[in-house]
Amino acid sequence: MSVLVVEAGSEHTNDPRIRTPGFWLSVLGSPDFDWDYETVPQKGLDGKVIRLSQGKLVGGSSAINGLAFVAQSKAAIDAWAEFGNPGWDWETLGPYYRKLHTLSRPSTATVEHLRLSYMEENVGGSDGPIQASFPEESSDPLPSAWVDTFAALGFAASGDPFSGRFSGGYINALNVDPASGTRSDAATGYFEPAKSRPNLHVMTGALVDKILLDRTTGKVPRAVGVQVQKDRETVTITAKKEVILAAGVFGSPKLLELSGIGNRELLEKLDIAVMVENPNVGENLQDHPVSSLSFEVEDGVKTMDALARRDAGAVAVATQEYATNKSGPFARGNFTGSLIPVPDFIGPGGKETLQQLLNQANETPNSVPGAFTRYHASFVHSLLSNPSEGAANIFMYPAGANVTSNDATDVGSIGMAKDNRQTPASFITICAALCFPLSRGSSHITCSDPSSKPTIDPRYLSHPLDLEVQARLLRYAETIVRTEPLAKLVKQGGKGRRNTGAPADLSDLDVAKGYTRLSALSCWHPTSTCAMLPRERGGVVDPKLRVYGVAGLRVVDSSVIPLATRGNCQTTVYAVAERAADLIKGEHGAGAAE
Ligand SMILES: Cc1cc2nc3c(=O)[nH]c(=O)nc-3n(C[C@H](O)[C@H](O)[C@H](O)COP(=O)(O)OP(=O)(O)OC[C@H]3O[C@@H](n4cnc5c(N)ncnc54)[C@H](O)[C@@H]3O)c2cc1C
Repeated sequence: MSVLVVEAGSEHTNDPRIRTPGFWLSVLGSPDFDWDYETVPQKGLDGKVIRLSQGKLVGGSSAINGLAFVAQSKAAIDAWAEFGNPGWDWETLGPYYRKLHTLSRPSTATVEHLRLSYMEENVGGSDGPIQASFPEESSDPLPSAWVDTFAALGFAASGDPFSGRFSGGYINALNVDPASGTRSDAATGYFEPAKSRPNLHVMTGALVDKILLDRTTGKVPRAVGVQVQKDRETVTITAKKEVILAAGVFGSPKLLELSGIGNRELLEKLDIAVMVENPNVGENLQDHPVSSLSFEVEDGVKTMDALARRDAGAVAVATQEYATNKSGPFARGNFTGSLIPVPDFIGPGGKETLQQLLNQANETPNSVPGAFTRYHASFVHSLLSNPSEGAANIFMYPAGANVTSNDATDVGSIGMAKDNRQTPASFITICAALCFPLSRGSSHITCSDPSSKPTIDPRYLSHPLDLEVQARLLRYAETIVRTEPLAKLVKQGGKGRRNTGAPADLSDLDVAKGYTRLSALSCWHPTSTCAMLPRERGGVVDPKLRVYGVAGLRVVDSSVIPLATRGNCQTTVYAVAERAADLIKGEHGAGAAE
């Protein structure tokens, strides 16, 4: 059996802009690497348009992501089975999280400095293709202060991250190969080692137009190949066994729709012949909106602001550090995080507050249509009520944010603080995101031209409960920066500046809500547009990842994940892909893909 991978982007596996971890923000928006999508104006964000990067190169988004290597929770994966996907639970998927990576054990000094002693031996992966590690540095006071502050607030890290039961404030691993100090991604972990196999072929710079479906051989249409644009020519490629769609959360529903699989009304309006009617295609889009607030740090605390300002001296020092020791800011991605219960719901009166909000949410006319809503809401409500589950993802970025701009050069604005370029101040930014938002949206084609971008509407913060929770999480940033030991690194009592547009105080919930909407951006974790669910509950693929109503067609990417991931999503995408590989090999004979 042979495999052909068709990729619209190019191969950049040895490009230092991709391999150098700290350069990740700088490649966003570049047509060489990024599809550079944007949403329609978001009602829940007062009409703001949000830019959504997605990788367009061999390795896809794993080659441009923020390198946070974060595991899922058992509860969130078990929910997949409860939603109607038999065989998809922590027991079956958990081992694949382990299989996909190798976690390098940090040195004793790093364990101490980054407070990693809660990690358990033999829980993380030991021989998987994706390399994960922790930055080996001990001079930066911010990471340890971050973890200690969460412990002081009652959120000490506990449970190994890959055990399925982690919670607390922590330093997460990064998908950085410690041997070379470079990004480890799908291109280096999976593609490079397989590249020389005689039965693997890769076609780059090739845009798939549609999947070719044969209706003549039986009642059910069969995927028999793809139509591709390559070097200004239209090429037809046939598949003997099956077509596997892995075009990502926006690319996969787009290709299904261009091939006549989707909502009848939409397809007919665009003169696309309806091959399989399924209104769920492109629906159920979930993403993590993140709102943030920057605080000026005490003089002498080093952040990445000087780099964001393109300060020549700071760039020279960071370049030297990376070149000589593979250390410093260029060696890192995002690593100061937390996965915690919502603090407002666990303190005194917390239960009552939550109950009141849940009652209000139940009374609000259903803002998300579809049969999945009931299952989704029931999971999210139970998780919010459970003090040992992480429902909130609060993380820190060591630079000021420019949250109010939609300027192209500020894409991924966190850390690209344009308004701070003239004034050499330094900040930390505290970012708050809901792990499991109830707001769901869609991504659809609006014309039949394959080179057009889909219309993306995540409906960020459109569900009233999401805004209530996210505003409370952002408000909690005030408590975090006033708690020791972080407090001594941040200018206190009105002495310190905040980012442009930020209120001087977020204690008032209405002020917090307004600013939560104003400052919201995407965390770049969109999922679920071709959800694995029973068809009558909003599904596009079955538990074997086969597209309903079509033979020989599977989807294997972030679009099949039925529920937003608890934190960052790459480990779950890899785990699903590993499991899919076994399903596919099992069907076509063990080892068939070797
Ligand atoms: C900027 C950014 C930061 C992120 N940060 C993190 C992080 O820190 N931690 C984390 O865990 N996750 C992070 N993520 C999310 C994570 O990287 C993605 O969820 C994951 O990589 C998605 O994988 P995928 O296979 O679904 O899609 P992708 O990796 O996007 O792959 C889709 C591929 O299909 C190709 N394609 C699409 N359409 C066509 C077509 N018509 N013809 C041919 N080829 C096509 C694309 O070019 C791409 O290579 C981030 C994502 C982004 C974009």
